[in-house]
Amino acid sequence: MKLVFATNNLNKLKEVQEMLPASIELLSLKDIHCFDEIEETATTLEGNAQIKANYITDKFGYNCFADDTGLEIEALNGDPGVYSARYAGEPANAEKNMHKVLENLKNTENRVAQFRTSVCLNLDGNQFLFDGICKGEILTQKQGEKGFGYDPIFQPENFLISFAEMSSEEKNKISHRGRAIKKLIDFLNAMY
Ligand code: IMP
Repeated sequence: MKLVFATNNLNKLKEVQEMLPASIELLSLKDIHCFDEIEETATTLEGNAQIKANYITDKFGYNCFADDTGLEIEALNGDPGVYSARYAGEPANAEKNMHKVLENLKNTENRVAQFRTSVCLNLDGNQFLFDGICKGEILTQKQGEKGFGYDPIFQPENFLISFAEMSSEEKNKISHRGRAIKKLIDFLNAMY
């Protein structure tokens, strides 16, 4: 079966393909010649994952899954959440986003936060949602050089280092995205 992962991130694609049964051939957006900018206009992570998966299924007819991730900070009432990529405005800029978070939490003791990923799968006319959460806290300053996005200011629960100080293997094992994708893969493995 051909299954589209609505992403252009080849690292994500390769990682997921390696975990899938050989009977599932994973395709990227480029593989199906989709170069459209899919507008993520929903106000929830689930909604944006659905928009992306539905766009591909409706326009191209493929079974498809899409993911959407946000950083949810307790003291900021769940912000930046679904607006994580552009928290400090357009164009998206990780340094400015982290700076804004650190400024907004400057005098706040409650540093509790979590990353959450929602995955939407369209499979043979049915839709399935999976989510993955990684709990942790926001550090008071950046630590580490690896990863991307908010990694330097996020320390996962039960660790004394930030995401940006972990290898990608180490991060994938406990990350929000890793957990959501694992649920998707277990589901597909049970079906195929
Ligand atoms: P996306 O839905 O995967 O594109 O993620 C939206 C935004 O959330 C990204 O632009 C990053 O700012 C942030 N983000 C998502 N995943 C991670 C992560 O694993 N570490 C740090 N930031 C992330």
